[in-house]
Amino acid sequence: MTEKTIFSKIIAGEVPCDEVYQDSKCLAFRDIQPQAPIHILVIPKKAIPSLKEVSASDKELLGHLLLIASDLAKKEGLENWRTVINTGAEAGQTVFHLHLHVIGGRPLNWPPG
Ligand code: 5GP
Repeated sequence: MTEKTIFSKIIAGEVPCDEVYQDSKCLAFRDIQPQAPIHILVIPKKAIPSLKEVSASDKELLGHLLLIASDLAKKEGLENWRTVINTGAEAGQTVFHLHLHVIGGRPLNWPPG
């Protein structure tokens, strides 16, 4: 069995988080090391390692995550924000449980590093 990620432990309630939203399919909480005034992570409760491992059966779930990310960004009062999904270690992924970053509250440069 593969070892549980920190996000699976958060979903299981074994590790605390600053939760902002949850439903039957996903959980959203504030990043422990925020990169901007608002930095929320939206994660599926299903343990998918990254966007590399998704399949057609995840279509509805993936759409749901984006809709929740949009709702939460607006609830936080953001008019501009960035939604990021790092995929693979060389792209900056450090936790191998799929997650969307919702980052905003300051000007964001492009291209990212
Ligand atoms: P990644 O680098 O994989 O795209 O993003 C992982 C994110 O998870 C990072 O921004 C990191 O700060 C955040 N993170 C890692 N461990 C924890 C934790 O225990 N609690 C919270 N709230 N965020 C975490």
